[in-house]
Amino acid sequence: MPNFFNFECEFDRERGERPLVGRFVMKIGVLGMQGDIEEHLNMLEKLDVPAIRVKSSKHLNSIDGLIIPGGESTTMVKLLKKTGLFDELKQKIENGLPVYGTCAGMILLAKEIVSHPEQDSLKALDIAVNRNGYGRQVDSFEVDIPIPILGEKPFKAIFIRAPKITRVGNDVDVLAKYGETPVMVRKDNIFASSFHPEITNDTRIHELFLKVVENAARR
Ligand code: GLN
Repeated sequence: MPNFFNFECEFDRERGERPLVGRFVMKIGVLGMQGDIEEHLNMLEKLDVPAIRVKSSKHLNSIDGLIIPGGESTTMVKLLKKTGLFDELKQKIENGLPVYGTCAGMILLAKEIVSHPEQDSLKALDIAVNRNGYGRQVDSFEVDIPIPILGEKPFKAIFIRAPKITRVGNDVDVLAKYGETPVMVRKDNIFASSFHPEITNDTRIHELFLKVVENAARR
């Protein structure tokens, strides 16, 4: 177990309690509209981190970090709007809520969807994406890629009807590339990947995100 998980006592944000430095339990949310929610929850369970499905404002207000899963970005946007969570989530991210979007989750975070300009998004991350840019379901593939921030061991990246990043803003860091194309990016507390770490056994990206969440909660 990585030593940054130092869970000893719980705090209750709703009662105005603050996390105690070095002694708090973070709670992670997985956006629970649609998609591979369960896979992310399983990953977090493996890491011993309390996690919930986020389907309401109350849930959104109780978490320290959010994962937006892969799935169907159009459906997720539709449901976010229907539940009224779209604007609230956008605001939360603007206010610094750490967030990690995988695949469709990355599309939701992107400023620009070049293939579908009419599709709305949270516009939290200055990247442009092309939906299904690597092809359709039959063109799904796995490839080992280096992700230097995670150490030397390559990461098995699984691409399923994945969005292709076609532009990265100046202030966005590229954490991994496949060939010449960025596939994992970061701007401060916002992470996104074209691929799906939650369906591998490799917990390193989730651990990295948890570290960021913990640092943000301590501030
Ligand atoms: N192609 C899907 C979309 O555009 C994303 C696929 C995925 O998340 N695996 O929303």
